[in-house]
Amino acid sequence: MTKMLVVDDEIEICDFLKTFFEERNYKVLTALNGETALKLVNQERPAIVLLDIKMPGCDGIEVLKKIKQAHPLTKVIMVTAIETREKIEEALRFGADNYITKPLSLEYLEKDVRDKLEQMV
Ligand SMILES: [Mg+2]
Repeated sequence: MTKMLVVDDEIEICDFLKTFFEERNYKVLTALNGETALKLVNQERPAIVLLDIKMPGCDGIEVLKKIKQAHPLTKVIMVTAIETREKIEEALRFGADNYITKPLSLEYLEKDVRDKLEQMV
């Protein structure tokens, strides 16, 4: 079972994505902040992380940098509300594998998750 970590400071989004992907046979962990996310990445080694950019404290870009430093093969898809183009480009520069904007299109997100995981094989 593929392990996924969903990181978002909005608990509704964590719950929503967890339910959606669990129904599709992923094992889904969630984190409401960057600190917890980094701890879970190190302990649980998820194959893929869905990562919110805008969070209080350690924001998504910081979390992305640390994930990619420690575990370069972990796929990271940034999840963003309407961000400036700059933030998205910054994330891609720091190794984000893709990004998706809120409101989320789940069909698109699921396809992207599958594509990214296939690249790992
Ligand atoms: Mg947020």
